[in-house]
Amino acid sequence: MPLPTVAIVGRPNVGKSTLFNRLVGKRIALVDDRPGVTRDRREGDATLLGMDFRVFDTAGFEDEDPASLPGRMRRQTEAAVREADVALFLIDAREGVTPLDEEIANWLRAEDAPVIVAANKAEGRQGEAGRMEAYALGLGEPIAISAEHGEGVVDLFESLRPFLEREEVEPEPEEDLESNDRPLHIAVVGRPNAGKSTLVNKMLGEERMITGPEAGITRDSIALDWQWASPDGTVREVRLVDTAGLRKRAKVDDKLERLSAADTRRSIDMAEVVVLLLDATRGLEAQDLRIADEVVDEGRCLLIALNKWDVAEHASSLFNGVKAALEEGLSQLKGVPVLTVSAKTGKGIDQILKAAFELRASWNRRVTTGELNRWFERAVENNPPPAPGGKRIKLRYITQIKSRPPTFVVFGSRVDQLPESYRRYLLNSMRRDLELGPVPLRMSMRSPKNPFDR
Ligand code: GDP
Repeated sequence: MPLPTVAIVGRPNVGKSTLFNRLVGKRIALVDDRPGVTRDRREGDATLLGMDFRVFDTAGFEDEDPASLPGRMRRQTEAAVREADVALFLIDAREGVTPLDEEIANWLRAEDAPVIVAANKAEGRQGEAGRMEAYALGLGEPIAISAEHGEGVVDLFESLRPFLEREEVEPEPEEDLESNDRPLHIAVVGRPNAGKSTLVNKMLGEERMITGPEAGITRDSIALDWQWASPDGTVREVRLVDTAGLRKRAKVDDKLERLSAADTRRSIDMAEVVVLLLDATRGLEAQDLRIADEVVDEGRCLLIALNKWDVAEHASSLFNGVKAALEEGLSQLKGVPVLTVSAKTGKGIDQILKAAFELRASWNRRVTTGELNRWFERAVENNPPPAPGGKRIKLRYITQIKSRPPTFVVFGSRVDQLPESYRRYLLNSMRRDLELGPVPLRMSMRSPKNPFDR
């Protein structure tokens, strides 16, 4: 499925090339631009706030004989518009609407193609008059942008979005699908005597580990790689990273393990999923909550495993007690999975690994810009942001800038006054509505200044 396309049209010197360069960024170097070749157009892959499309401009008239200009321009403009999903018609906001602009508008209207009018060079306030003037072109509501200074990008995005967002054109990025096939980096942390060594040994001794563990010991880390044959029949790669249990095996530590904060931090750093092992005969303690907090702070997936389940008493009230204490103590992330395990018998190990792979898949998740913004519009409509001092905070658009963990940026005006509670509302409803799972999510707010920048 080819990308949707945008044609930038307009008379010479309105800033078509500048906008083209902004949208295409560095990849411009790939475009054929040999000297001596008269180019009618340049074409490239563009990104705007996470939305991908093809763009071409119709530059190349600047040196032409003025007498033949309109005829050639007309042919080119019409051809471009027929090929594109939408035409972006640039005028110069500082010069206002010229007779040639009016003529181009006539061609565009005759083509009956979707057109967005953008008054360019509208930096600061001076462009507003030009934008207002552009209404007279009869092509809908003009937007004000500055290609040079990267202003107006949210408006540009919002105008283009309806024309460019066909569901099929936004496949989940492949890198994230691939990351689900890479070895799962998992660490086991917990207080001394929680059973970490026992668990690690049991994991390695299980017949499910169909290849023998291979230890990789580097200067400051220890990792064991193996393949796990899951009960559903798939074979998956696991890398157990730097855990106390491994350190003991490798005789790096002395016999008596101290719970060193630095060790725990290092394990968390290296892992995608951190299993916090608790001793079920002792329950959840303040120190465990601190580790849990740290895992979430670092943006890693957290999974709680209640060990020694074979000897646990009052199992269900213990289980519920731990869950409740987590919900209360771990305010930043609700619904962390709590599993039970016996490192001694091996019961529950498969479930831990299965849950860990699921968590990582959520952590790798990319939500398409379309899905994200449809959810966003509803969420903002259902619960509009407050209006401190009587002036409403405007939230306009959201984009996912990365995964591992899923990280989002919300664009709007006066976002510095948005209360933390509103950000939480967005995060919670996003997690629920988009089924993002109990993994850490990040969200920041930005008032766009130069959002063309990647
Ligand atoms: P670590 O300090 O976290 O590595 O803990 P160890 O693996 O050394 O285990 C501490 C103690 O708990 C040992 O005496 C283990 O035999 C015991 N233990 C570990 N896991 C289990 C379990 O699942 N069930 C029972 N009953 N005992 C366990």
